[in-house]
Amino acid sequence: MEEPSNEVCSVCREPVAGGFTVQGSEASDGRQFTIEIAGTPDRDFNDCDACNTRVHYRCSKHPKTGYCDRCFEKYGLEDYFDPWPWSKVHK
Ligand SMILES: [Zn+2]
Ligand SMILES: [Zn+2]
Repeated sequence: MEEPSNEVCSVCREPVAGGFTVQGSEASDGRQFTIEIAGTPDRDFNDCDACNTRVHYRCSKHPKTGYCDRCFEKYGLEDYFDPWPWSKVHK
């Protein structure tokens, strides 16, 4: 059995577009380091927040949640769940 590459959607096996950018910045007092992860504008997929499965927005029933369909059902999530969890700033 062929292992899917992480560059393809786990649902349709087609390649995904776009990616993530990670930006780090140091606060002025030099103590706090902030890292921000954001998707590129052409990104057309999610990496599931729970299981890291890669899935196209168009192949997911609930793309705004950041979870794959399996985890969406597993955790009983709702569509109003935080739509962009990966863009949070971690301090
Ligand atoms: Zn797909
Ligand atoms: Zn998942």
